[in-house]
Amino acid sequence: MNALCTLPGGWIDRKGVRQREGVLRPLRGGDEEWLYTLPPHTSQASVLITLLARCVRHLGPYRASRAMIRMLPAGDCDYLALRLYRMTFGDKVEMVLVCPNPACGAKMDLDFDASLLPVEERPQLPRYTLRLGLPNAAEVSFRLPRIGDVEAANGARDPEVRLLSRCLLDIDGKAPGGEEVVAALPAEAREALNAELERVSPRIEDSIEASCPECGREFRTAFDSTALLFANIYRRRREFNHAVHLLSFHYHWPLSEILGMTREQRQRYVRLLQDELDLAAGMSAGLD
Ligand SMILES: [Zn+2]
Repeated sequence: MNALCTLPGGWIDRKGVRQREGVLRPLRGGDEEWLYTLPPHTSQASVLITLLARCVRHLGPYRASRAMIRMLPAGDCDYLALRLYRMTFGDKVEMVLVCPNPACGAKMDLDFDASLLPVEERPQLPRYTLRLGLPNAAEVSFRLPRIGDVEAANGARDPEVRLLSRCLLDIDGKAPGGEEVVAALPAEAREALNAELERVSPRIEDSIEASCPECGREFRTAFDSTALLFANIYRRRREFNHAVHLLSFHYHWPLSEILGMTREQRQRYVRLLQDELDLAAGMSAGLD
């Protein structure tokens, strides 16, 4: 079943209207199969863009496209990745952590409910302004960093400079120039700009509180919904292959139909089939 979601930031259409309502379809076997065949060093942002271009059906009244996904604030994409995780694997998140206390280093399991993860809604504006008060940059205008910017910054010599220069709209009313201009800004100005970007960007919580059951140390650990989604898909590759094999071998359904199923549908048939096979195995064992 498709899910309706309200994006924490939203996409701004050509008329300047913000669209926050999206329709997301669940992951299907075909998406999983596609993920398994990607070259190993494809950047996380590139994979997420393509996956969302496959799964986001609509943004407002528009049919979603890859170009539209590239224009979504990075926080909206984290949010959509978390929704895909919950639609595919349910609300429970299980993480294995290592205690950061050097004297302890115990391994621990951390479970939490993904539906309770705080989402900071900050509806996107086309333009933001920040006073830097520098002689050659008194005031800058910028837009929010998009997932397309994150993708473009990947592999840049200085990813932060690449990202900032893409988001700057003007400096004191003039076109901001290239990456050299951002690279030449004093460190405090870049820090102020980064802090402002963080303050106005939509986001989902990116760290989780934990406490070590062995030594009692309390700490926070990073949480990345996109990495969580991909890790959970990748570590089930054997299970996926086994399910697809079992269904095609016994039901003789065409592969396209099996790959059109969600994980939940697939699992349902696999369980039924497994019960039948176990029963048949038990009967033949009884006959021996
Ligand atoms: Zn510990």
